[in-house]
Amino acid sequence: MPLQELICPACGAPLPKKFRFTRMIVCEYCNNTILLNADSLEAVKQKVLLADYDSFVKIHSFFHWGDNLMEIIGRVRYQYEAGFWDEWLLVENSKDQYWWLHEDEGDFAIFIENPEEETEKFYTYEELKIGSEIYINDFLNKVFLCEKAQATIAGFEGEIPYVIAPSQTMHYVDGIYKGKMVSLEYIGDKCYIYVGIPISAKAALESLKKSLAE
Ligand SMILES: [Zn+2]
Repeated sequence: MPLQELICPACGAPLPKKFRFTRMIVCEYCNNTILLNADSLEAVKQKVLLADYDSFVKIHSFFHWGDNLMEIIGRVRYQYEAGFWDEWLLVENSKDQYWWLHEDEGDFAIFIENPEEETEKFYTYEELKIGSEIYINDFLNKVFLCEKAQATIAGFEGEIPYVIAPSQTMHYVDGIYKGKMVSLEYIGDKCYIYVGIPISAKAALESLKKSLAE
C-alpha cells in the first residue's frame, strides 16, 4: 500500500500513515493526538510525551522476524504495579498484518492478534479466575490463566490501531497454552486476544541490526 499523506489538523505538518488500520496518530511535530474518523481528522488537544529510557527499539526502525520485515510505527506504554512496559507496534504493509513487540525491562515477547478471535459473547474480565483453564477456540482450547491485573495507559507515540486515552485503565489476563503466551486485553468494551512467544533481548537486537545492515 502506498504511503498516505495526511495533514495534521493542529499544526499543518505532514502526518504519514503507514498502516491501513491505524485509528490514531501522534503528530511528530506538535505531539497532539489525531483521531482518524471515517471522514475527517480530529485533533485531540492532549500531549502524551513519553519519558525516554534506554531501549534499543525505536520508532521507524525495521524488525526482521522469520520471513517478515516489519516496520516499527507506534508504541503504547502501560503503567502497572511493578513499573511499566511498552508495546511496540510492528506492521508489514504488504500483508496488512501487525504484531506487538512487548518490552518489559529488557524482556521481550512478540504477540500477534488471534485470527480466530470472537469478542462477542466472550468471557468478561470478572468471570476469569487465576488458576483455571478456559476454552477460547479450537486453537486455544485449554489456556491456563496465571495473571490478572489492571494497567493504566501512560502514553503513546506514532500510529495506534485503536482509540485510547492517557490514564485510561486496561484490564488484562495472561495465560499459557503449550508454551505460548496468551494475553486477553480488555480495552473499552472489547477484548483483544493475543498469542505470543518470548524472544531473548539478543534475538530482538539482532532482528533490528539485521535490518540496519541492509
Ligand atoms: Zn501536528
